[in-house]
Amino acid sequence: MAKIKDKYDVAIIGSGLGGLQCAYILSKHGYKVAVFEKNHQIGGSLQVFSRQKTIFDTGVHYLGGLGEGQNLHQYFNYFGLNENNLKLRQLDINCFDSIEFGDNFEPYYLAQGYKNFADSLKRQFPDEGKAIDNYCYLVQDYCSKFKLYNLEVPGMSDYTRDSELLEANAYDVIDSLSSNKLLTAVLAGNMMLYAGHKENTPFFVHALVTNSYVESSYRVADGGSQIAIELSRQIRKMGGELFRRTEIVGAHVEEKSIVYLKTADGDEIYADKFISNLHPSITIDLIGKDNFKPSYKKRISKIRNTTACFCSHFVLKENAFDYLNYNIYHHKDIEEVWNINVSKDDWPASVMISTPANTKTPGKANGLTVMTYMEHEYFNNWGSTQNTVTISDDRGAEYQKLKDEFQDRMLKRVEKKFPGVSDLIVHSESSTPLTFRDYLNTPNGSAYGMWKDCHTPLNAFMNPRTNIKNLYLTGQNIVMHGILGVTVGSFITCFFFVDKEKLMEDVRNS
Ligand SMILES: Cc1cc2nc3c(=O)[nH]c(=O)nc-3n(C[C@H](O)[C@H](O)[C@H](O)COP(=O)(O)OP(=O)(O)OC[C@H]3O[C@@H](n4cnc5c(N)ncnc54)[C@H](O)[C@@H]3O)c2cc1C
Repeated sequence: MAKIKDKYDVAIIGSGLGGLQCAYILSKHGYKVAVFEKNHQIGGSLQVFSRQKTIFDTGVHYLGGLGEGQNLHQYFNYFGLNENNLKLRQLDINCFDSIEFGDNFEPYYLAQGYKNFADSLKRQFPDEGKAIDNYCYLVQDYCSKFKLYNLEVPGMSDYTRDSELLEANAYDVIDSLSSNKLLTAVLAGNMMLYAGHKENTPFFVHALVTNSYVESSYRVADGGSQIAIELSRQIRKMGGELFRRTEIVGAHVEEKSIVYLKTADGDEIYADKFISNLHPSITIDLIGKDNFKPSYKKRISKIRNTTACFCSHFVLKENAFDYLNYNIYHHKDIEEVWNINVSKDDWPASVMISTPANTKTPGKANGLTVMTYMEHEYFNNWGSTQNTVTISDDRGAEYQKLKDEFQDRMLKRVEKKFPGVSDLIVHSESSTPLTFRDYLNTPNGSAYGMWKDCHTPLNAFMNPRTNIKNLYLTGQNIVMHGILGVTVGSFITCFFFVDKEKLMEDVRNS
C-alpha cells in the first residue's frame, strides 16, 4: 500500500463514484491527489460481493444514457470508461423494465428509444396515444433545461432560477396526462429508482432519471465495481493515490480552514484542499460541528433523507434459471406505485426483481436480487452495532432471525412470479438498512441521500463550497443520486478547481 505523503494538493474523503471522479479530473489537471476510503473495497454503492462465485451488485443495478453520443456515454468517455474496460450488456430494447401488477403479475413493458418507447406503450394502451406523446414531450422538455445533463456549461439562467420547472409535482404532472390510472401507474412504475413520493417528488427528478433509461439501459456484467476499479487504475496512472481501510475520523481546523484530517489509525493527512464525498450532515459531524455556520447546519438538518432499502440476494443452481435481460418492478396494485410507506405487516410493498448479468453463462442467471424500501427503524435495536468487512460486531441471532423473516417475505413474492424458484436457491443473503449505513456511511442507510421535495426544491441542491474555506463537497447530494447524477455533481465540484468551459469542451470532444 502507498505511504501517506507529507502533503497533497487535494485530499478526498470517500471513494464513492463522486470521490473517484473528482480524483480523476483533478489528477488529469496536475493536482497531487489522494483518496481515503474507510472500507476494504472502493466504490461506495458500486461495491459488489460474491457468494459461491456469483457476483452481486450492492447498489447499482443498471445505467442509463450509455448509448453512442448520449450523455453518460460522453461523460464516461472522458473518464476512459468504455466497452473495452467495462463488460456492458444492453438490456432488452423492447423491455428494459417490465412494470407488473397484482397477484398475476400482469406486465407492461417500457422500451428503449423514444419512438420505440412510445410505439410500444401505444400498442399496450391503444386509446392513449396523445397522453403518451405528451408524456414523452414533457420528459424531454424538462431534461433540456438542465445544461450539464446536456453537456453544456451552466450559465446564469440555469434551472435553479426556474421555480415552475422545479416545483412541478411528478404525480400531478403524470396524473394530468390521462384519466387512465393504469397508464399513469405504468409511467411511474419504476419510481423506486428515485424513491418517488406522491406529495413531494418533483417531476424534474422523474424526468431526469426516466429519460436516461428510455434513451438506453445497460447492465455491467460481472459487477458494477468495474467502474470504480477502472477509475482507480487511471487515477494511479496519473500519479494519484488511493488508501483503502483508512477511515477519516476528524479534522484539525484553524481560522476556518482544515489543516489536516485525522485517520482512525492516528495519522494526519495534510492538503491544501479537501473534498468530502460524504453526506453533508456526516461531513459536518466529521469535520466538527463548531466549524460550520448555525444557518448551514440548520438547513441541512431540516432536509429529510430518502428511505433505506432491504435487498435479498439469492445464488441459484447452475444453468437452472434463464437470465432476465430486463428488470421487473412489481406492485400489489396500481395504487401501490406511489406508496413508499407501508406498515410492517404489509411490507414489502413494491419490489424490484433482477438477475445480475454474467459473462460465464450469459443466457442463464446464477443469481437473483430483490430490492425494496425499508424504514431504518425496523432494525433500531441494533443501531449501535457496526458490521463491515473491516469492523465487525456480531449482531446476534435475533438480528439474523428478523432478517430471515423479511427475506422470507421477499422470497414469497418472487415465488409468486416464478413458482418453484425456491428449490433452485443454494445460498441467500440479505442487506438491511444497517448494512447500507455501515458500508456507505449514509444517515440511517438512506439509499439516495437528500430527498428532493417539490415544495422546497432548492434545499436539496448543495453548493460544493462550504463555509470552511478549503472544504468542498461532492457525491449524490450535489444535484442528483445515480451514476449520471453523481457524475454531473463531480463536474460541478471540479469547476471550483478547473476552468469549466475547457472541462466541458474536453467532455464533448472525448
Ligand atoms: C440499493 C441501491 C440501488 C441503487 N441502484 C442504482 C442503479 O441501478 N443505477 C444508478 O445509477 N444508481 C443507483 N443507485 C444510486 C447510486 O449508486 C448512488 O447515487 C451513487 O453510487 C452514490 O455515489 P457517491 O459518490 O455519492 O458515494 P457513495 O457511494 O455514497 O460512497 C461514499 C464512500 O465514502 C466512504 N466513506 C464514508 N465515510 C468515510 C470516512 N469517514 N472515511 C473514509 N471513507 C468514508 C464510504 O465507505 C463510501 O465508499 C443505487 C443506490 C442504492 C443504495
